[in-house]
Amino acid sequence: MPLMRSWVESANSADTPFPLNNLPYGVFSTEGTDPRCGVAIGDMILDMAAAEEAGIVAVADTPLFDVPFWNEVMEEGHAVWDALRARLIEILADGADEQPLLEPMLVAQADAQMHMPFLVSEYTDFYAGKHHAFNVGTMFRGPENALPPNWLHIPIGYNGRASSVVVSGTDVRRPWGQLKGPNDDAPRFAPCARFDLELEMGAIIGQHSDGPVTVDEADAMIFGYVLLNDWSARDIQAWEYQPLGPFQAKATATTISPWIVTKDALAPFRCATPAREKELLPHLRDTGPMLYDIELSVSLAPAGKDATVISRTNYNEMYYSSAQQLAHHTTSGCPMTVGDLLGSGTVSGPEKDNRGSLLELSWGGKEPVTLETGDRRSFLEDGDTLTLHGAARGDGYTIGFGDCTGTVLPALEDPYAR
Ligand code: CA
Repeated sequence: MPLMRSWVESANSADTPFPLNNLPYGVFSTEGTDPRCGVAIGDMILDMAAAEEAGIVAVADTPLFDVPFWNEVMEEGHAVWDALRARLIEILADGADEQPLLEPMLVAQADAQMHMPFLVSEYTDFYAGKHHAFNVGTMFRGPENALPPNWLHIPIGYNGRASSVVVSGTDVRRPWGQLKGPNDDAPRFAPCARFDLELEMGAIIGQHSDGPVTVDEADAMIFGYVLLNDWSARDIQAWEYQPLGPFQAKATATTISPWIVTKDALAPFRCATPAREKELLPHLRDTGPMLYDIELSVSLAPAGKDATVISRTNYNEMYYSSAQQLAHHTTSGCPMTVGDLLGSGTVSGPEKDNRGSLLELSWGGKEPVTLETGDRRSFLEDGDTLTLHGAARGDGYTIGFGDCTGTVLPALEDPYAR
């Protein structure tokens, strides 16, 4: 599929993350106005509440866009999802009759503040990247026991916290926690000294389910994707994670990019999961291409200094697709709800510079990463700004997500001070 041309001129370059082919969904405000739904086009945002009030994007019986979340659109289901995308393409395409009506409803992204694009009902994080699981397992348990025996049969996950999912641009405070190094006699309560990122994709569930769903049904339930940074306190994690998995190490914050990129926009980039090393049980088997070819990278900027790209990888490295993760999530009968967020698990590739966490890049702190500024990093320092980028490259166009960024604030001096 080539670049689709829009009357919004900035949407017509090969490099803009937001051509007419994309049309991602976000929530924005400008000074003195309430947050509401918007659609990115070029370097502008179409104010969907205004377009709806003018009767230009009526795709349901009730108003959908005058609220600060896209959950109501998700609730409406596939017919409305399809009608909305078709209508947006129609009215924003080059030559559309609606151009003079819509021009006053465009807001420059540079003048807008982005907010969480949806209400996160629940958040589950997976561990579905094989390179990441093998690297981390090797560090924690040695290469012979790196992959747990269940790893090639189920996408391992844990129930995370929806309450600490934040939008790009939100500062993240270094947490305190209980730490115990391998040579310590007793644990102590102290600021995390091994604060890290995890480069992930987030899948947003747009339909309810009640009972087990198939992989195909799961794929149909996914509304769209965001970039996701699962901030991780490695020293807290090392002490707490057995036997029930991560808890406070992952609860400080999870940052997502501000634009929901729909499954339709990503359809040309669908690809298969890697070859299966053990045949999956029938209910988890691949039924078609359900991963996506999305280039991912991470940059790190020390306070007041330029950013260095520390990792480049691709979402197509994941062993399990989000649809397989979602299908597995429902096998127990667990109901899923609109606004459920699934973290893919850290996306690492086969090479050293493909690793999606500092834990792997610095090999547990033994091989610090040297930045272009000359600074060295084993883990994150106060004032560091991390930014995840994602891009699917089409024929003369790019599908982007907007940055997923956050700056590390120093730990409080006394977390219990009142
Ligand atoms: Ca994670």
